[in-house]
Amino acid sequence: MLGGMPDGAADIVVMKFGGTSVAGAEQIKRAAGRIVAARERGKRVVAVLSARGKTTDELVAAAHEISERPVAREMDMLLSTGERISCALCAMAIHDMGHEAISLTGSQAGIVTDSSHTKARIIDVRADRIRQALEQDRIVLVAGFQGVSTDSRDVTTLGRGGSDTTAVALAAALDAEVCEIYTDVRGVYSADPRIVPDARMLDQISFEEMLEMAASGAGVLQLRSVEYARNHGVRIHCRSSFEDGPGTLVVSEEEAMENPFITGVTHSDAEARVTLTGLRDEPGVAGRIFGALADANVNVDVIIQNEPVGDDQLADLSFTVDRGELTLAREVIDGLGDVAVQVKAEEQIGKVSVVGAGMRSHPGVAAKVFETLGSEGINIEMISTSPIKISCVIGADRVKDAVLALHAAFELGDDAIRPEDGTGNTTSTVAG
Ligand code: ASP
Ligand code: MG
Repeated sequence: MLGGMPDGAADIVVMKFGGTSVAGAEQIKRAAGRIVAARERGKRVVAVLSARGKTTDELVAAAHEISERPVAREMDMLLSTGERISCALCAMAIHDMGHEAISLTGSQAGIVTDSSHTKARIIDVRADRIRQALEQDRIVLVAGFQGVSTDSRDVTTLGRGGSDTTAVALAAALDAEVCEIYTDVRGVYSADPRIVPDARMLDQISFEEMLEMAASGAGVLQLRSVEYARNHGVRIHCRSSFEDGPGTLVVSEEEAMENPFITGVTHSDAEARVTLTGLRDEPGVAGRIFGALADANVNVDVIIQNEPVGDDQLADLSFTVDRGELTLAREVIDGLGDVAVQVKAEEQIGKVSVVGAGMRSHPGVAAKVFETLGSEGINIEMISTSPIKISCVIGADRVKDAVLALHAAFELGDDAIRPEDGTGNTTSTVAG
């Protein structure tokens, strides 16, 4: 409802636009057009914008040109500017389209975080200012990926991809009907379509599956945003900002109509591994190592440790981290002094994962994954599983082959033969 009509009952939608969707003037105007169209359909709109194109990468690079180890607080001051630029420009475009818009920084929008710079967590959303602006019939633009710590009163950022989490947190706080994530792909796919030409776009995916997909390399949504959405029951709708398509809905498992056996294959070719050999086999050692890594905020992924087999009774331990965190991880381990006889770091590590809620009740999926990789001559270096995911650590140079082989083996492609009722891929071929 527009123009002076009582607006209190109008539904709120949160629309988030990623970097490519606001890259240049044309794209910003297009995003503004989508926002205005939603307003004209009677919605109250809060839009969360990312930094334009490669802006965040460029800001990171600029910092490293100045300093080898940029101070985290200042890094956040720097990085938070990208999103502000997008919002101010988009507000201008909306004004030219005849609507009232106001841009807000994360801090102005009431996004309160802890004070861990460059990977802060949202702890509260005080959305009164947004609500007020909506009541005044304004479109609200919020700079994504940032907040403010009420402890330190400093600007913080939420980690790469953090605008997704800003959007979901606002949708939760405002009780929005949906959180729409506009991006440069049409939705969530059964595998990265840049690697697998016949990857299938999913109509729906459950939070649980999306969590595993995001955690294991699917770049569509920041992991934390999915966690937040699951915890607060926020419906996420991933869609393209460049075309009108159905997109992918991320919903609760009960709501997910389509329950395919295997949902997708994800990958990462940007992992690294640290191996410690000659660890004392006694209580407290792993706690010390991973406690120190956690204190330094290093996200550890796959961990392997075996019982010692040699006469010396010393154990070996390996774990993987994002390649970008390898230097920090090494520093942390080195800082522990004599914890291991030898520490080795490897940079070119990859990972491929198969995700699907259906594997809970069907044995044989792991075997099929391993056999498929084996028949491609791909060596599996580490394995980790959850009830709905199997991940294999492999060489970074074999990741593409692995994704293609697994996607084909589980018949996830667009041209795969499906049962008449459309419930997804058949299980008979994969149960063995
Ligand atoms: N601009 C930030 C990034 O590139 C945050 C985001 O886009 O979500 O990671
Ligand atoms: Mg993103």
